[in-house]
Amino acid sequence: MRPEKPSISSPSMPPVEDHVKPFIIPVFIPHAGCPHQCVFCNQKAITQSEVHAPSTAQIEASIRSYLKYLTPNRKPMQIAFYGGNFLGIDHREIIRLLNVATQFVQDGIVDGIRFSTRPDTITKDRLAILHGFPVSTIEIGAQSMNDAVLAICRRGHTAGHTVCAAQLAKAAGYEVGIQMMVGLPGDDDAGTISTGQRIAALSPDFVRIYPAVVLEHSPLANWYRMGQYTPLSLSAGVSLVKILYLMFQESNIAVIRMGLQATTDTQKGSIFLAGPFHPAFGHLVMAEIYRDRVIELLKASSSALEAVTLCVNPKRISTMRGLKNENIDYLKNRFHIRRIDVKGDPLMPDHHISLVIEHKFRENILR
Ligand code: SF4
Repeated sequence: MRPEKPSISSPSMPPVEDHVKPFIIPVFIPHAGCPHQCVFCNQKAITQSEVHAPSTAQIEASIRSYLKYLTPNRKPMQIAFYGGNFLGIDHREIIRLLNVATQFVQDGIVDGIRFSTRPDTITKDRLAILHGFPVSTIEIGAQSMNDAVLAICRRGHTAGHTVCAAQLAKAAGYEVGIQMMVGLPGDDDAGTISTGQRIAALSPDFVRIYPAVVLEHSPLANWYRMGQYTPLSLSAGVSLVKILYLMFQESNIAVIRMGLQATTDTQKGSIFLAGPFHPAFGHLVMAEIYRDRVIELLKASSSALEAVTLCVNPKRISTMRGLKNENIDYLKNRFHIRRIDVKGDPLMPDHHISLVIEHKFRENILR
């Protein structure tokens, strides 16, 4: 009779809050309301839109193009004004944009409105414009909580503005998200982690983490070409975002996005000059977290390993494997394991890993 194979489970993974992410219908307003161009930014390239202020008909058509994805048991849907500084837009224009979106809410087609905006535009007066409109969520583009970094990036606001903005928006009853960046000019790992800690201290409902990449026609592109800015490598960006992700999870703050949204142009590389861009950036981060967990478990195993079976929830098999099986190859090489299998078990709680290990010593006895 074969001896029972030892099984070990990952220590409790950090709590992952299943933040109910709404289905977001983006309406891009590239650079609308921006007082200037921040050094890393080129919204026209990211959003693939030249239209600074889309017409009412264009917005309606854009929203309707997303509605075909509606399913009977659909998730909550929100219309999102992205790519600009929403509360920096002219008062009447804000009203026009909100009116277009509100009609879809009143018709029962979508559930709410959200937008992204600079911290220094969140004031009592500006928030008062939203009164009576079904806005539920405000995303604050903080990017950094280091005033020196903010100055180098020509943001034109300080960390203090972000603190006040988060407090004001929360006090007004909005769901609040904060966007931050890694790899900004003038920043380093310790400074970025400090930014994450200061953002976590503001208790936002969620965060987004973007790596700074060098976009064509941005001021950063000139700095990069002149050798004045070196972006993070992809692996450094992934590892740094991993630290932030785990930190936010410890604070029970949902991380709803890691990495830039891939577009046809970014994938073709036509706007992307350098930096840690990857269409599956978030997947790379999660895969590294899974790999770290298994390393910890395997390090605890005292004798040489013959084969390992990793059990995860079926929806996490590709996360466990890593992109192009990188995790499996890495673990095999590092621990000299002949065979690693990944099995999906529907009974496994999400984000838990269980290992079944065959030691070389045991196998030898059996033969
Ligand atoms: S980062 Fe935000 S505020 Fe700065 S230019 Fe881009 S959209 Fe405008």
